[in-house]
Amino acid sequence: MKLSEQFQVLRRAARYTFSVNRKYTILLIMSAFLSSIVGYVPIYFSAKVIDSLIAKAPVETVILYVALTVGIVFAVNLTNTYISSEKSAASSAMWRNEDWSYSEKAMQMAYGSIEDPEVTRLRYRIRRESQTGHNLYYLYQHIEQFAGQVTKITASTALTVSFFALPSVPVCFKLAIVAGLAITLMFQLYATKKTNALDRDFMALSVDMNIIAEHFLSYIEHYGAGKDIRLYDMGEFVGGSYLALDQDYWERGLKNSYIKAAWALPVAMLNTVLKFGIYAVLICAALQGGITTGSIARYVACIMMLAENLLSAAKTIQSAFDNNHYLKRYFSYFDIPNNMYQGSLTVEKRDDAEYYVEFRNVSFRYPNTDSYALRNIDLRFRIGEKLAIVGMNGSGKTTFIKLLCRLYDPTEGEILLNGVNIQKYDYDEYMSIFSVVFQDFSLFAFQLGEIVASSRSFDEDRVRSCLIKANFGSRLDEMPEGVHTYLYKGYDRSGMEISGGEAQKIAIARAYMGERDVLIFDEPSAALDPIAERELFERIRQENQGKTVIMISHRVAFARMADRILVVDDGRIQDEGSKEEMLPKLFPEDCG
Ligand code: ADP
Repeated sequence: MKLSEQFQVLRRAARYTFSVNRKYTILLIMSAFLSSIVGYVPIYFSAKVIDSLIAKAPVETVILYVALTVGIVFAVNLTNTYISSEKSAASSAMWRNEDWSYSEKAMQMAYGSIEDPEVTRLRYRIRRESQTGHNLYYLYQHIEQFAGQVTKITASTALTVSFFALPSVPVCFKLAIVAGLAITLMFQLYATKKTNALDRDFMALSVDMNIIAEHFLSYIEHYGAGKDIRLYDMGEFVGGSYLALDQDYWERGLKNSYIKAAWALPVAMLNTVLKFGIYAVLICAALQGGITTGSIARYVACIMMLAENLLSAAKTIQSAFDNNHYLKRYFSYFDIPNNMYQGSLTVEKRDDAEYYVEFRNVSFRYPNTDSYALRNIDLRFRIGEKLAIVGMNGSGKTTFIKLLCRLYDPTEGEILLNGVNIQKYDYDEYMSIFSVVFQDFSLFAFQLGEIVASSRSFDEDRVRSCLIKANFGSRLDEMPEGVHTYLYKGYDRSGMEISGGEAQKIAIARAYMGERDVLIFDEPSAALDPIAERELFERIRQENQGKTVIMISHRVAFARMADRILVVDDGRIQDEGSKEEMLPKLFPEDCG
């Protein structure tokens, strides 16, 4: 990464820390400053005390210096204790805000991005890298460390600068200290750069490895796989493949540790040589005279601190630059554009409910794929019609619904509502016409009523009537808390478990709740037995007179109540017609 880009990421990181929690960042810097400066108080005053004692100054002067040392250290420590407790409270708020901004982004991004495997991978990678401390944790750590190091460098320089001005100390001594520092600093920077690059490569490998490991482990541990593993004697095959991969990964990690240790050794040696050198130079300078005894103690402590903190600050900068590689990826998640949902037109409210939807030569390819999921779809239907879509798995039926609901925009062609491209409508306005039950719906473990109403507050009677309409009435009567019963155990441990078919009915009730003009069901009876399915279709027919119902279903029972049947195959509308025309073709046995 170029230096200019490094600073760009750092600037953004600084802005981000302030947006996540300004108070935490400020307290972190203040606390680092106070805990660093406190160490210099005794160094400064003990030099004064030693010199006063040697100069046989009045005892009050000595007592004053001692009292000042104790008083200032006490005051600084007290303030810092208060700041630290505030800081730790702010830290919880900061992590909560960070988590939330990450989740908020997931909810706000276009649906296409959520389904995009590249985005899934990016999210996984960022999570994994954050778990190992990269991104925000290291960023705050670097801010804290750097604030402390800058404080110490400034204080050490202020207390040492007089050493470099001393005429009694030969220039070669002073140059030796500066040169030793510069060499050690450069070597350490070089070594850190090398080992950080090594760590980054290993981290990338570790993300890949973790994805594979999770896949292996979830398969091995899932009870469903237990049967296959035993029946087909797959233990050695599956377990062995996993262990072989893990062995490679482990060996690579070990090799990395050796390389890092090999770099750490000369760095540590050079550091030690530097410290010895500084001691030697200072002792020689003291022997030459011209420095007070108190000042020698102060110079020794301060030059050592200066050297140590210059080296640590260099290391912090290097680590921060390294973390910038991760932060860049972290921010790229927030930068995923959302070009959907930008329309602003309101949907015309018509008393005669005369709406029609038109697909005009629509073709669609999922992002990052080569083949078309839908091709040249031309279709027009009026609100009020009952439409059945049939076709083999993978023929494009669900994709058709996703385009209709603007989860994706067509790659080619356009979809129109009353002659206007649906992209031009305000998204929420447009979606207010539709209620959709996808096959892969998901219910959160809230109260039944909350789930159906999609809200924490709900009208109990309306929820109950929607559940009854969705054929969930008899099950509702058995529920101990009625519409206040929690589902599943995720939120409340007394929550009730429900079957796949029951969940499907609740999802249908949720769709009814909105009282929308168009109801879309994607295989709503997939988890239902034949009797429940017949009842459900009959209910749908009775309850939705005058509304559009679009249903993806292979069942003859629904096809019978549809006005129109579309047959989709390989992304194209293969055939279409009225139920009278289509039923004999599709279900000859049932019509014969
Ligand atoms: P159906 O509902 O008829 O079973 P879909 O509309 O779900 O079929 O899928 C149509 C085609 O699009 C299939 O080839 C499927 O693999 C592909 N597809 C579906 N969803 C995605 C996706 N998120 N990314 C890439 N391809 C997809």
